Amino acid sequence: MTCTEFNADTLPVKEAIPQDLLLQIKEMQKCGKCAQCLYTYILLAPTMSDKELIGLFGYDLLEDVELKAELDELAGFKLNPYPNRLRIARVNKCLQSISLQQERSGKALIKHYINECIKQYEGDMIEEYFNMAP
Ligand SMILES: [Zn+2]
Repeated sequence: MTCTEFNADTLPVKEAIPQDLLLQIKEMQKCGKCAQCLYTYILLAPTMSDKELIGLFGYDLLEDVELKAELDELAGFKLNPYPNRLRIARVNKCLQSISLQQERSGKALIKHYINECIKQYEGDMIEEYFNMAP
């Protein structure tokens, strides 16, 4: 199995990953550069250490700035006519919990995530002001 064939929607959110799923991830071929790899990595991160994750993927995907566009898509920052709302909710739950882990909050993609969340929040505020205007 390859990373693009793996269905990461079956992984639990913020709970330990069942052994059989972990074995599947261990044995599958991972490119480490696609949205599916990043999605899997983000779902594993809340319950696994950096060392375990790097052992599985070969490097720290959360430090890879080349995956910014993939992160934006997974987190729902990018405009998409057919957003996968369930996936976006799962990803944001995990990213929020990773952001709160102090030793991980400085990682490149986590910093990017936090900045984008602030931007989105400010965007909403501005929209609210527009709505209030007569
Ligand atoms: Zn991949």
